[in-house]
Formats: sequence, structure tokens, C-alpha cells
Amino acid sequence: YGEFNQKIDYVFKVVLIGDSAVGKSQLLARFARNEFSIDSKATIGVEFQTRTLNIDQKTIKAQIWDTAGQERYRAVTSAYYRGAVGAMLVYDITKRQSFDHVARWLEELRSHADRNIVIMLIGNKSDLGSLRAVPTEDAKEFAQRENLFFMETSALEATNVESAFMTVLSDIYRITS
Ligand code: GDP
Ligand code: MG
Repeated sequence: YGEFNQKIDYVFKVVLIGDSAVGKSQLLARFARNEFSIDSKATIGVEFQTRTLNIDQKTIKAQIWDTAGQERYRAVTSAYYRGAVGAMLVYDITKRQSFDHVARWLEELRSHADRNIVIMLIGNKSDLGSLRAVPTEDAKEFAQRENLFFMETSALEATNVESAFMTVLSDIYRITS
């Protein structure tokens, strides 16, 4: 995870969106720093975190943007979406409402972001299987219909987090290069 003084070939901006408390900030902490904190406070001040990685022998700086508690409908500004080439649209598999709002987030994303933006639908908190309120199949169907990637993740257990981000970044790279 160390960032060396190396030549950066590409910078990819990826935004995290979705209802409050679904685990966006913890997914970012897991991906950028391999950390998780149980009582994560609302992210204040920090706009994005970066992680430098290699794809196809190119050095890519992933710049991942996190909402600072502006998840109320339409409160995320267009500056947040500007220049984004990827998006992680997150819901909580134990909160039906957070999944019901996904269509709204998608609409907002598509009205602000670039037409070719790569989108991953993420059902987070897969470690809480006994409290599941959103069947995997429902999300899978939605993602297929809307042409999104889809994965269930656990930021807590570090399940599929790396894979979700790498899938999006690789697809962005494929489109860009
Ligand atoms: P955000 O508002 O979307 O940024 O959500 P946070 O990242 O702040 O997480 C909200 C709450 O859910 C916090 O109490 C986290 O510890 C918890 N949380 C986040 N990810 C997971 C996960 O994968 N599993 C479980 N069990 N809890 C999680
Ligand atoms: Mg947050």
C-alpha cells in the first residue's frame, strides 16, 4: 500500500454513493488502507483517498471520493461527480430501504456523470447474512437490467472489497487504454 515516487500513467476518479450508513466509508478505508473501524464517525473534511496500483504494467492512481455525510437526496453536488470514470453504488443487504433507493441514486448518477462511467452495484455487510433483507437474486436482476457490475461485499471481513474495486478499475482501464 506504500506509495512510491513513481510515474503515474493514469488517475481514475471513482465516486462512492448510496444511502447513509451502508458502509461506504468503511469500504474505502478497507480498500485504501486495509483498515476497518467499528464506530466510524461521519467522514468530515476528507474528500478522497488514493491508492496506487498496477494494471497491465501501468501505474494507476485510484482516487476514491467519499461523501461527507451529504447522502440526503440531491445533496451530493455535481462537483462530486465531475470527472468520475467509475462509481460504487452501495446498499446494505440488511436494509431493504437502502436497496429501494438504488434506482434513485442511479438516476442521479446518470444525470451528472459521464456517459461511459463504469458502475458497480455493491451489497455490503455480507457478514450479516442472518439479518439479510435483500435477496442476492433481486440485486443481480436489477444489475443485469441496468448494465451494472454487481458484488456482495463485507468491509468488516474484507470479503470481495479488493475484487469489487479492481473489477471497476480494470474495466475503466480497458475502456481508457
Ligand atoms: P457510510 O455512512 O455509508 O459511510 O457508512 P459507514 O462506513 O460509516 O458504516 C456505517 C456503519 O456500518 C458503521 O457502524 C460501520 O462499522 C458498519 N459497517 C460498515 N461496513 C460493514 C460491514 O461490511 N459489515 C458490518 N457488519 N458492518 C459494517
Ligand atoms: Mg461515510
